[in-house]
Amino acid sequence: MKKEFLLAPGPSQVPAETLLEMAKPVFHHRTKRFQNIFAEVQEGLKYVFQTKNPVLVFASSGTGAMEGSVSSVLSPGDKAITVTGGKFGQRWKNLCKAFGAEAIELTVEWGKSVDPETIKDLLQQHKDVKAVYVTLVETSTGTLADIRKIGEIVKDTGAILVVDAVSGLGADKLLTDEWNVDIAVAGSQKALMLPPGLAFAAVSEKAWKAIENAKTSNFYFNYKKAKASLDKNDTAFTPAVTLIIGLKKSLDMIKEETIEKVWKRHADNAASMRSAVEAIGLKLFSSNPANAVTAVVLPEGVDGLAFVKKIRDEYGVTMAGGQDHVKGKIFRVAQMGYANQFDTVVASSAVEMVLSELGYKFDKGSATKAAVAELIKRGVK
Ligand code: PMP
Repeated sequence: MKKEFLLAPGPSQVPAETLLEMAKPVFHHRTKRFQNIFAEVQEGLKYVFQTKNPVLVFASSGTGAMEGSVSSVLSPGDKAITVTGGKFGQRWKNLCKAFGAEAIELTVEWGKSVDPETIKDLLQQHKDVKAVYVTLVETSTGTLADIRKIGEIVKDTGAILVVDAVSGLGADKLLTDEWNVDIAVAGSQKALMLPPGLAFAAVSEKAWKAIENAKTSNFYFNYKKAKASLDKNDTAFTPAVTLIIGLKKSLDMIKEETIEKVWKRHADNAASMRSAVEAIGLKLFSSNPANAVTAVVLPEGVDGLAFVKKIRDEYGVTMAGGQDHVKGKIFRVAQMGYANQFDTVVASSAVEMVLSELGYKFDKGSATKAAVAELIKRGVK
């Protein structure tokens, strides 16, 4: 018998309550019934994003909302600052390129957070920058960015701040309005406890002005079109009805727990996971680790590809490996969404068992012990 534990940084676990909602018959979307649910989903999304602004919903993976935040904002030839400290930061630059905008790329060493002052310097050098594109949680490195500070810098300029919160939203704290984030984008399959298939974008007044002035060349991910439909509690194209029904359930669960407690749960579980790996001599890949996902450097001599394959195929615990130049060198384990303290304990013990099999020498049981001790210290129930 093999029991499966999905602890990858997306897609992540979906609660049975949400799955059951999605098992109900599909109904037509151009109805009052759908509009009422969509209106409630709007309120739930605003709560999770901590915004008063409308949150656009697209039937796509998270990248769709990212694409729209470039193609609806930048006209060909416009300048934007993009921050790259991993795989997903790179996507901002690639999107700018795809839509004919000029990306001024700020490169950060993988595993490090961007220094907000470097963004300030670039904005002073390039006064005509239209937007700054950053990543809340860089999933490829498990690194958190200081969005609050970046927001303080960008707010007094003519540029808008766009944040990829695909893996961070609902895991690591994000106060969209208070931190002056103009567009925050997210996806359904991370901390929102849903399968893949929905993308979101919370858009500020300042961003709407930029969008009004842009000469866009897009169609499906056109923010203006999405907003015009949203004003009528509707979507421009056929919505992913089933996922929206599931989203309503997951958002209700988040509301019931409260967003503050959701953030605390992620912080507790991430702290527990970090203590576990450090207790057996492993190092964190990030110098500013996020709570959504923990990236861990594998010991010398341990084949990272074999580690990820073994832990998934033989132990039933799905984690992720490294990408690009850290492929085979790190593993990434998520605490996002429907993960609780026992998932951390499962992860810690599975890591110990696999590392032991792969020949790494350590005090057996000490990672799991440290994970549990940290949870108890933090009073996790
Ligand atoms: N940004 C980040 C930070 C992500 O983690 C991901 C998904 N791993 C994406 C963007 C892309 O999202 P999607 O795969 O849903 O298009």
